[in-house]
Amino acid sequence: MNYDNAKQARYYNKIEESKVHCFLCPHNCIIKPEMTGACRARKNIGGELFSLNYGLVTSLSLDPIEKKPLRRFHPGSLILSAGSFGCNLKCSFCQNWTIAHQDADTATVAPQALVSKAMSLKAKGNIGIAYTYNEPSIWYEFVHDTCVFAKKEGLSNVLVTNGFISHEPLMGILPFIDAMNIDVKAFTSGFYKDICKGILDNVKESVELASQHCHVEVTTLVIPDLNDSLDEIERLSKWLSSISPDIPLHLSRFFPNYKMSHVNPTPKETLFAAKKVADNYLNHVYLGNI
Ligand code: SF4
Repeated sequence: MNYDNAKQARYYNKIEESKVHCFLCPHNCIIKPEMTGACRARKNIGGELFSLNYGLVTSLSLDPIEKKPLRRFHPGSLILSAGSFGCNLKCSFCQNWTIAHQDADTATVAPQALVSKAMSLKAKGNIGIAYTYNEPSIWYEFVHDTCVFAKKEGLSNVLVTNGFISHEPLMGILPFIDAMNIDVKAFTSGFYKDICKGILDNVKESVELASQHCHVEVTTLVIPDLNDSLDEIERLSKWLSSISPDIPLHLSRFFPNYKMSHVNPTPKETLFAAKKVADNYLNHVYLGNI
C-alpha cells in the first residue's frame, strides 16, 4: 500500500521510547515505532502517529439514503457514499471484511474534491456525503476535514458507524454531523468481547451522546443463537426507548459471511418475533435484508 498521503493524526500522545498512545477509540493502543494500531489505519512513523488512510477511497457510490440504512432522514433522497479501509472492531460476521481487514485498491481524493463531487450530484438528488463501507471513526482526520467543507456548502454529513469511538473525538465531530446510523451489534458485553473485540458500554455511550446532537438510527444484525433471544431484543429496545422511543431500530437479517459462513441465515420468523417485541417500546422498527 502507498502511504504517500499519510497525515499527522489527532488524538494521540507521545510516550517513552518513541512509542505513541492513540486514544481515538477505546482500544487506547500503545504503538511502537513502525507499527500500526489495531485498526491498521494509524501508524507510528518516527515517534509520531499518522493516519494512513487519509484521502484514500476504496468505494464511492451514489446510494439511496435508505441503503445506509436511514429511514427517517430525508427519505427518498440519494447520498454520495464514500469509504476507505480499516476497522477497529474484528466482528467474525463482518459484511465488509475485504475493505475492513484486507488490503483493498484505493483511489486518492482530497476533501475539497469529494465535496465538489457531491455538489455536482445535487441535480441528481444528492443531499450530501455518507462516510460508510468501512469504519469512518478511524478515517477520522479525512472525515472531519471533509465534513467541515461539506457543511460550508450546505451538504448533509452522515456517519454509518460502529460507535466505538472515544468521547473527545466524538464531541469534536458531532457539530458537523447531521445523521448517524450506529450499529449496536448485540446487547451483551460478552458478544462484544468475544465476537467483536469491543466494549458494549462505549457504544451505548456513543448512541446516547449522538442522539443529543443529530438524527440517530440504530442497526442490529440478528444472528441465530448469538444475539437473537427475545429477552436481549427487549432489553435493547427498552434502553433505546429510554433515550427516545422515536429512535428508529433496524433489525437486520444475518446471512453467512466471513468467519461465520457455517452459520445459517436468520429465520424470518425470528425477525418477525423480534420486531413484535421491539414494537412494544419503539415507534419505528424496521426489518432489513428480509
Ligand atoms: S483508532 Fe486505531 S490505533 Fe487508535 S486506539 Fe483505535 S484501534 Fe488503536
